[in-house]
Amino acid sequence: MKPYKNKINRIRTFALSLVFIGIVIMYVGIYFKNQPAVMVIFMLLGVLAVIGSTGVYAWIGLLSMKTIPVECPNCGKQTKMLGRVDMCMHCNEPLTMDPALEGKEFSEEYNKKNS
Ligand SMILES: [Zn+2]
Repeated sequence: MKPYKNKINRIRTFALSLVFIGIVIMYVGIYFKNQPAVMVIFMLLGVLAVIGSTGVYAWIGLLSMKTIPVECPNCGKQTKMLGRVDMCMHCNEPLTMDPALEGKEFSEEYNKKNS
């Protein structure tokens, strides 16, 4: 079984890891201080990764406006939903906005069908 996660949380994790990847790339660049050209390339890649994560964070901001705040029936906490089906941010309970999908087994495929 695939471990499904709340989409907003997943994108946030991705943005955070991008920052760390950027820092690691820049750190690797320091080892090439005898070859300034290589070092500059690593530094630029690192900066790009950090800028990319900023972009992803901005994207999360935009997506957050489209999310629907719901109360999770399982844990009773407020969570944000994106798309027709999503998971609770706190307990990973599958949630759906579509009554036709209620009770069906959770699948992210439901978000891809636009018919
Ligand atoms: Zn929950």
